[in-house]
Amino acid sequence: MTHSETLFEQAQKYIPGGVNSPVRAFRGVGGTPLFFKHAQGAYLYDEDDQRYIDYIGSWGPMILGHGDQRIKDALHAQVDLGVGYGAPTALETEMAKKVCELVPSIELVRMVNSGTEATMSTVRLARGYTGRDKIVKFEGCYHGHVDSLLVKAGSGALTLGVPNSPGIPASLAEHTITLTYNDMDSVRECFREMGDQIAAIIVEPVAGNMNCIPPVPGFLEGLREVCDEHGTVLIFDEVMTGFRVSLGGAQGLYGVTPDLTALGKVIGGGLPVGAFGGKREIMEHISPLGPVYQAGTLSGNPLAMCAGLTTLNAISEPGFHDRLTEKTNAVRDGLKEAADATGIPLTVQSAGAMFGFFFTEESSVTRFDQVMGCDVERFKKFFQGMLKEGVYLAPSAFEAGFTTAALSEQDIADTVAAAKKVMATL
Ligand code: PLP
Repeated sequence: MTHSETLFEQAQKYIPGGVNSPVRAFRGVGGTPLFFKHAQGAYLYDEDDQRYIDYIGSWGPMILGHGDQRIKDALHAQVDLGVGYGAPTALETEMAKKVCELVPSIELVRMVNSGTEATMSTVRLARGYTGRDKIVKFEGCYHGHVDSLLVKAGSGALTLGVPNSPGIPASLAEHTITLTYNDMDSVRECFREMGDQIAAIIVEPVAGNMNCIPPVPGFLEGLREVCDEHGTVLIFDEVMTGFRVSLGGAQGLYGVTPDLTALGKVIGGGLPVGAFGGKREIMEHISPLGPVYQAGTLSGNPLAMCAGLTTLNAISEPGFHDRLTEKTNAVRDGLKEAADATGIPLTVQSAGAMFGFFFTEESSVTRFDQVMGCDVERFKKFFQGMLKEGVYLAPSAFEAGFTTAALSEQDIADTVAAAKKVMATL
């Protein structure tokens, strides 16, 4: 038995399914999840002392790679000062200012502790601001485990085969309208029928929870238009894309401005952080300025602010995202090259520092039904083969991959060589 297997057995005695977040359980790929004890740069080291090139980056936050010295120094210094006061700090203003500078659609921003809290708060705010109940989301988009948003959600929910969770009252779910991603016709039709009842559209501007699906030209622009026509709040869930697909997120990359933005992952530099913000006029409805209640014991925690700010400052260095996008493109193209060399049909897609690959004959994947038509069994074999070769991909056919600044040319070459070797066995 490996150390990971023993640890997983022990974990299952006390933790549901042995994990604190379902996709970690490897149910989407089979086998035992690896337990990690250490990470540095582009690598993870498991309890059996195996090294892996990491394409998950803690599900997105570790954009600089693991163990970045700047983050470690900032955290050590803050630990000596105090780990939390439950009262305002200058650090929070510094963080808020930085976020507003990097994402110009954000005029006021509130810190929270996770992406889920961020999206949950944007939906409540949009409902409170408009006085409407209905919201529109898209099939395969995941916005955290918020009751209203866990309807036809992606990734973890898809991996487990339960797109809708029990425990969500039907009377609440009925206010969530689910439409098809990248299909403006369905959006326009829905708004013709009931646009004046819809508080918000919430969308992943690049879908990263049904693998990686960039928006087709005109989709985000179309959403902006219908929201303007009907007085509906446009919410970009940039928990995954924020500070990753470009310094200004997907809204910076595609030039479409939402009313509200949810942030998470990179903004915390590896610590538990989320944030939401947007137009001043809407954000002024949040307590204590306005009547829409929102709060948090640990929100704006100084350690989290330190790790996050240090990350945001580091990724603001000129050329950071260009370099990271080049690395991502090299991984993306290398996977395709490996597939072509071995005659495996594969479609690769990316946006900035997010990428995805689909075992499919389709030349591009833009819709949820195409994602569901991909060869998941082949993905599972590929995943397990890559793991044996020391490459740690997301353990689900429905998750995007992430690159980090720590990834070297050699790491990418090793990844592509491993992919060729594994694909030859599929
Ligand atoms: N929104 C998106 C797009 C996400 O990918 C996630 C998590 O993966 C969330 C929201 C929820 O964030 P968290 O897991 O921090 O609650």
